[in-house]
Amino acid sequence: MSWRPLTILILTTVGCATWRTVGSYEGWTLHEESPGSVQEDLWRAQVEPAKAAVEAWLGPFQDSVQIHALAGPVRLAEDGRGVVHAAEASQPVAGMRQTEVRGYHLQGTDPAQAGGIFVRDPSLPTLVHELVHARLAEGEDELPLWFEEGIACLLSDGLMFEEHWVRDGFSAWPWAELRARRPDGLELQSVLELDSMSTSSVRENVLAHLIGWALVFDLWRETRSDDWHTWRAAFDWEHPVQDAQRRLNRVLSEPVPGEWLRARLASSNRGVRLAALRGSWKLASPEVGAILLGALELEKDPEVQVALAVNLLASGGHVAADGSGLLHIHERARKTLSQSSLPTPSEALAVRTLVLALEDAAPGETTDAGAALEGLRRFWDE
Ligand SMILES: [Zn+2]
Repeated sequence: MSWRPLTILILTTVGCATWRTVGSYEGWTLHEESPGSVQEDLWRAQVEPAKAAVEAWLGPFQDSVQIHALAGPVRLAEDGRGVVHAAEASQPVAGMRQTEVRGYHLQGTDPAQAGGIFVRDPSLPTLVHELVHARLAEGEDELPLWFEEGIACLLSDGLMFEEHWVRDGFSAWPWAELRARRPDGLELQSVLELDSMSTSSVRENVLAHLIGWALVFDLWRETRSDDWHTWRAAFDWEHPVQDAQRRLNRVLSEPVPGEWLRARLASSNRGVRLAALRGSWKLASPEVGAILLGALELEKDPEVQVALAVNLLASGGHVAADGSGLLHIHERARKTLSQSSLPTPSEALAVRTLVLALEDAAPGETTDAGAALEGLRRFWDE
């Protein structure tokens, strides 16, 4: 489970693919790269709620949105440009682990391509992220790259629940990545200076997402506003590096994930609880382990129970202070899964397979759980 999803704002075209229009709907059009490759209903079911969510925050789109279904994964070239690469879904980034690029938005000058969204799979977070870029590109404001990426990352952290997008906002990947390898002052300054038209390296581009998320998350919490204009007004543009350092210190402090999880798991809305749990395995610490375990004791909803158990199991050894704590967590999670009753047959089967894979495995030992976890992706994949 080393997935590090990322959606990227890219300036220039990826080549001269010929696109076939699949259909035109209210306010958007779907195009496909290879004929017959797209399941129209599936895309519509994802794009409609993603577009509705983005319009609720940022106002209605002025122009029809052009969505392109890519036939292959995206790969970033070292000059920051995207190329479609048929074989690989993830790529190494200097100083970081593997990163998967799931989509991009073109802000180029070529009218045939500008404003378009290019995505591989109709995943809702990716669509929300790219639609935020597309909507912001319609405005007059020239935003720094980090700020625009931060807005897109914040708004696209969540999940689809009962046909609506439920935003969480706390994104585990950038938090864990920045906490493990925080950029120094010079690198921070160079990332803060990028605008959406700058040419940047893959690392700078990824860092703009990570730093952007952290700073915008802090601005969002500080202002208690959902309006990005308020966030922009709250940032100290006269002393950007100092203000960014101050905000990074605050966001990356150790108690933040625990505080966030505790508050979100206390919500009576189970969509909010599910959204908060996704990715929580990346935050593994004894404190987070205790919060998830405590929530599991109280939780009545079968889906949230599975989400708690799966994220606990995926957290690895750091989720408990010692071996007996880890054993207890694994026992509790396994018991939850073996008693669970998910309504979707494929997910119920995945849970059974996971329980069988865990039966004889010691805590931390590699099990044959990969395929089962794949079938339960919506519970852990952020
Ligand atoms: Zn982006």
